[in-house]
Amino acid sequence: MKLHKGSLKLAGLYLTIIMFISLFFSVSIYELSTRELDRGLKRPAAVLEDGPLRGIVRETREALKQENEAIYQEAKNRISERLVFTNAIILIAAGFLSYYLAVRTLKPIEEANESLERFTADASHELRTPISAMQSEIEVALMNPKLKLSESKAILQSNLEELAKLTALSDGLLKLARVGNGSLPRQPVNMRGLIKSSVKDIESSAKSRKVAIKVSGNSDISVLGDKSSLAEALKIILDNAIKYSPEKSEVEVRVSHNQKQVTIKVQDQGIGIKATELPYIFERFYRADSSRSKSKVEGYGIGLAIAKNIIELHRGTISVVSEPEQGSIFTVKLPLS
Ligand code: ADP
Repeated sequence: MKLHKGSLKLAGLYLTIIMFISLFFSVSIYELSTRELDRGLKRPAAVLEDGPLRGIVRETREALKQENEAIYQEAKNRISERLVFTNAIILIAAGFLSYYLAVRTLKPIEEANESLERFTADASHELRTPISAMQSEIEVALMNPKLKLSESKAILQSNLEELAKLTALSDGLLKLARVGNGSLPRQPVNMRGLIKSSVKDIESSAKSRKVAIKVSGNSDISVLGDKSSLAEALKIILDNAIKYSPEKSEVEVRVSHNQKQVTIKVQDQGIGIKATELPYIFERFYRADSSRSKSKVEGYGIGLAIAKNIIELHRGTISVVSEPEQGSIFTVKLPLS
């Protein structure tokens, strides 16, 4: 509603500018054409006055002057009618055009506004959940006059876990904000080194879940980009592959390239994603039902949004194919330097 009002205001401004220009030209055209007309019509009478026929046809000269005056008035009326008509047409056409342009100008602002509102609501909801959990635990403990030391320690331990969640969430939000501003350094990044370091970073969580990581393909190629951001994106995908996989399964990383791009595929044998949920998993704070309920895996739904931002800042693409209960394949394509 606010933006509809804004569109009307902006359209009004556009229309005022267009009509100001149109009226300025109309007045100029009117002035110029009537002046020229006046000059053109006076010339034959002047010829009669100064020419060789002077004194012979005085009546004819008077008659010509009167006729010229009538023609002049009629022409002036016709010009002003035409200009009024033209301006009326311009007013109607420019009115529609201004409204169309105003809506088009304000649409991205409206979308950005909505996205910011959604983001703020989602972020505060996610932040409030661990805070409320801590608050209620502390309140219940304080109301118990016979609270034992062991119980207090258990509450502190649980609070510590909630705090760790809050730290992870604020880290994620910071990363999201940082990759959102679109200024990444660009140096040659060797894929082999990148994959090696990303796999190393998630090795311990893979070990604890007994998930084997297999790397294959030719990765001796470089792309232009920011190594730490690309490693971050790859780590998110690998971390998910491990998180959403059953124990003793395998995650495979395959790398290939042609003259234009390098392709990294991360395949797991995990819980998979329903076709209906696939279009949303790269959105901020989106978590598929299966990962919320069935597998109870910790997360905030911002990892893939960060990964997608990073990949797109490198002019690459990220996509997924998945089969529930069978596994998923995440594919990252990055253009070569
Ligand atoms: P989260 O912190 O929830 O893992 P992400 O943004 O990384 O957030 O992922 C969004 C959602 O996409 C996850 O909640 C999960 O439902 C789904 N998802 C991502 N990767 C996988 C995967 N390898 N297997 C199954 N589901 C996945």
